[in-house]
Amino acid sequence: MTPHPPNRYAQWRLRSGAALALRDDCDSPPERLLQAIWLHQRLRRDELRTLDGESVRVLHPGFVSVEGGPDFRGAVLQFGNQPPQSGDVEVDVRVSGWRAHRHDKNPAFKNVLLHVVWDVERAGFGVPPSGGSAVPNRLKAELQTGVFSTLALRGVLDAPLGEMSVQLEREPVKSLPENLRGKCSGPLRDLAPDELTELLQQAARVRFEAKAAQLQARARQAGWEQALWEGLFRAAGYKHNVWPMQSLAELRSRWADEKKSPLTMQARLLGLSGLLPADVSRKESAADGYVRRVWDCWWRERDEFSDAILPRAVWRFHGLRPANHPQRRLALAAHWIAEDKLPAALEKWCDASLADKSLERSLLEIFQIERDEFWSWHWTFRSARLKQPQPLIGATRVTDLAINVALPWLWTRAIEGKNEKLRDEIARRYFAWPAAEDNSILRLARQRLLSSASVKYFRHAALQQGLIQIVRDFCDHSNAVCDQCEFPELVKQWKG
Ligand code: SF4
Repeated sequence: MTPHPPNRYAQWRLRSGAALALRDDCDSPPERLLQAIWLHQRLRRDELRTLDGESVRVLHPGFVSVEGGPDFRGAVLQFGNQPPQSGDVEVDVRVSGWRAHRHDKNPAFKNVLLHVVWDVERAGFGVPPSGGSAVPNRLKAELQTGVFSTLALRGVLDAPLGEMSVQLEREPVKSLPENLRGKCSGPLRDLAPDELTELLQQAARVRFEAKAAQLQARARQAGWEQALWEGLFRAAGYKHNVWPMQSLAELRSRWADEKKSPLTMQARLLGLSGLLPADVSRKESAADGYVRRVWDCWWRERDEFSDAILPRAVWRFHGLRPANHPQRRLALAAHWIAEDKLPAALEKWCDASLADKSLERSLLEIFQIERDEFWSWHWTFRSARLKQPQPLIGATRVTDLAINVALPWLWTRAIEGKNEKLRDEIARRYFAWPAAEDNSILRLARQRLLSSASVKYFRHAALQQGLIQIVRDFCDHSNAVCDQCEFPELVKQWKG
């Protein structure tokens, strides 16, 4: 019930469709609205019961998942008298959505603790239960497809659905409600801007030194160049394909031959990766000509490398943009290897005197290749020819290579060479480097820790790295309700 008649703005909102007024007997409220209701916990929270009749205490509803899988990750729930558990929550309009959406076959859903639905299907079972009240046993047996429990929201909302739809329909589920912020958000808000920057920069330094130490450890076993190549391949694998790229780089001494052409190197890398299309289509396309040439090289060498070919199953393609496809990354790496000048060019780059604004561009010139007869014109093997050639690497990926590999590698080499001036210059470049692409970890961390979704403050990659380091050091070892996290107390001590 609204206490006053709707004002002009509220009327506009309704008329323009910005707010959807649903009837209370609605059978199918939109799933988005159910997600918003769950996120904001607009429920009679002390009355929640699963279909089994067990009470549920929601200690934290979880964080909206932005990378597929269940709708909410890391919820903290207490069933009956059991200890609280952390797990995922999936929201569907109907119980049958679990199977209809094939969640039962998807391993990403294996940590689901609670399936939240609007109500239980009527067909064959009479009136749907309200708020998870008693359900016939046969229905429960049929509905409980996994180890999770099911909670029906119909009947346990804290306001009529019509009112809720007006209030929450447009509420973005990606922003975190105030009462779900981390316990450190208060102490962090109390820091002066330069104190916060100092804290994030120190965390970034820890992250940078850890990356440098990893490269140094590998260099001791395999040499500086090998450590660099492995780092570059890992970073080129982006977040999904780090391990297959690392495996290929580890075998570099077997396949890398700088006397060969980029096409021969592409054939070897694509053949070894297991990502070379097995056949060409019946209708001859531009890709077929290229695939034929690659196969012409690869079939002669395949036996020699047969023990090292990766199974296709080790690669992950879900949610991958065509520009980040591993085939494209390998095609680029083949040019780097054939040109055989990367490590020397990096050393020269760090000796040059560079202004902050030319850091990114100057490094991009080193990693970029002039043109590839096929990959500059196609995103993938099967995509149509592009109207304009596209670079094989852009500024965003070069920032990832700089922050995660090139700068830590150069820095640790400067330390080994006892070159303090160079060491300090590389550290300066690290802290001056422009921000990397935003991602879901940063978005959630900004909201949870800093109470702000804004990216404005994060103008430098090092500040982003510092925030990620705090997530890794503290959030990843606690849960959604910040159980036993020491970070808030540490931040209070940091002040002043
Ligand atoms: S777990 Fe710790 S660092 Fe993470 S949001 Fe909670 S209090 Fe902050």
